[in-house]
Amino acid sequence: MSTPFQVRSLMVEFGHRLYARHHIGAAEGNLSVRLPDGRIMITPSGINKGYMKAEDMIICDQSGKKVQGIGKPSSEIKLHGAIYNWRPDIMAICHAHPVYATGYSTARIPLMRPILPEVVGTIGGVPLAPYGAPGSSDLPETLAGLIDRFDVFLLEAHGVLALGKTLEDAFNKVEIVERFAGILYVAEKLGPVKELPQKEIERLLKAAGRLNIKDEIMQHIGPAAISADARSVEVEQAAAASVQKKSGAGYR
Ligand code: 13P
Ligand code: ZN
Repeated sequence: MSTPFQVRSLMVEFGHRLYARHHIGAAEGNLSVRLPDGRIMITPSGINKGYMKAEDMIICDQSGKKVQGIGKPSSEIKLHGAIYNWRPDIMAICHAHPVYATGYSTARIPLMRPILPEVVGTIGGVPLAPYGAPGSSDLPETLAGLIDRFDVFLLEAHGVLALGKTLEDAFNKVEIVERFAGILYVAEKLGPVKELPQKEIERLLKAAGRLNIKDEIMQHIGPAAISADARSVEVEQAAAASVQKKSGAGYR
């Protein structure tokens, strides 16, 4: 188990990584870890998390009251505290404003379409939590209907919130959603984007232990989804056309 000293260093490391990877700029974003005694170590408010130091970290009690540290705790301390209360399995939280994912959150487009196996087989999908002002006490309420089933959320017109078993796990989930958002944006510029075959979606969700969101994911499948049946019909038609061409049947 990590000591509070080790947790401080990890928070600094992942704050620097968020900044280096352009998932945050200026004073955006925040990180927290649930300490073994139930208190919350959280980043300070209003500073650049790419340049913070171990001694800048703040410790709060479960109600969000500061018990140790020099600066002010993150303005999202109420949100972090509510999540730790709701989800005993979550030990770390990472909040960032990465460009593509925040673009989708601002366009109010959830990232729920089952398109990339690496996404379906890990986080499942990313729902859109309705708007709540950053730092306000409304923000925890916006997650109420989603928090039991998902680990990553688009916060409407704001950013990404990722929950993890460790800080690295939460950070990786921010990366997964941001890469998905960027890839989807590019793919949609290049041509129609199809969802995975339904059987494959089910297999991936099962492997990720997320079959409980299957119905919600299936609601985001469009008519152009890659269907295993449609694919075999396409293959058969292509094979038949090629045989016909070789035998000259098409020219009689
Ligand atoms: P803090 O610096 O107060 O954590 O605020 C950053 C942020 O992203 C608020 O949503
Ligand atoms: Zn924010």
